[in-house]
Amino acid sequence: MTDNARYFDRPLKYTEAEWQARIQLAACYRIFDHLGWSESIYNHISLRVPGPDQHFLINPFGLHYSEVRASNLVKVDVEGRVIGDSDWPINPAGFTFHGAIHQQIPDGHCVMHVHTTATLAVCCLEQGLSYSNFYSAQLYGRIAYHDFEGITVHMDEGERILASAAGKQVLLLKNHGPVVIGHSLAQAFSLMWLINRACEVQMASMSMGPVIDIPVQVLEKCSRNSLNFDPKYGAGEDAFAAMMRIVERKDPGYRY
Ligand SMILES: [Zn+2]
Repeated sequence: MTDNARYFDRPLKYTEAEWQARIQLAACYRIFDHLGWSESIYNHISLRVPGPDQHFLINPFGLHYSEVRASNLVKVDVEGRVIGDSDWPINPAGFTFHGAIHQQIPDGHCVMHVHTTATLAVCCLEQGLSYSNFYSAQLYGRIAYHDFEGITVHMDEGERILASAAGKQVLLLKNHGPVVIGHSLAQAFSLMWLINRACEVQMASMSMGPVIDIPVQVLEKCSRNSLNFDPKYGAGEDAFAAMMRIVERKDPGYRY
């Protein structure tokens, strides 16, 4: 056996489907870190484990995103109880709303949350997201808001977060940061990338002066025509695969 083969071997305690989900999610944590989206040891991305059980993978609480690997991701049930063994706990503030979303939205397979400066700054604005740039225009009609209730450690807030989302895939937690719900990890990533870029551009443009309004018909067209949502053009899968190759070149150690 070569060193590489041993490196990438699937531990027998995981099914092939779970192991692939672990590799994809670990790559995603490394991608977030590569993009500067990590936040010390905080924040979280969760992914449903394929199969009949309502099990989910989430980051070990205490490790930086750059330290997350396929085998140290923690498997939990819908209430955040650890399944199997783990050297690490999970962040209770993390799974409160992730669990509620995964439980109530059957195709909500992946939930992402960040505190990037641009997204959090826009979440603090009275007017919220301004549909005045190329990226936010693609999100027109796709955004919901949820009032700030403090740190999300209380189970009952999960239900209210779901009610606020009301079927939308991008939810801006006011004064806090965005939550994105994807049918797949790649789709969630694509939405998170869009909202982050939209907020970065908003922060830059609005700090320079008044922005140019975009007519509603144009916004609707942008949201409809966005290649980020079109399966014909990869719908996020291609973009995620490209990012995965970047972190692979930096450090393939996320795979074990
Ligand atoms: Zn948060």
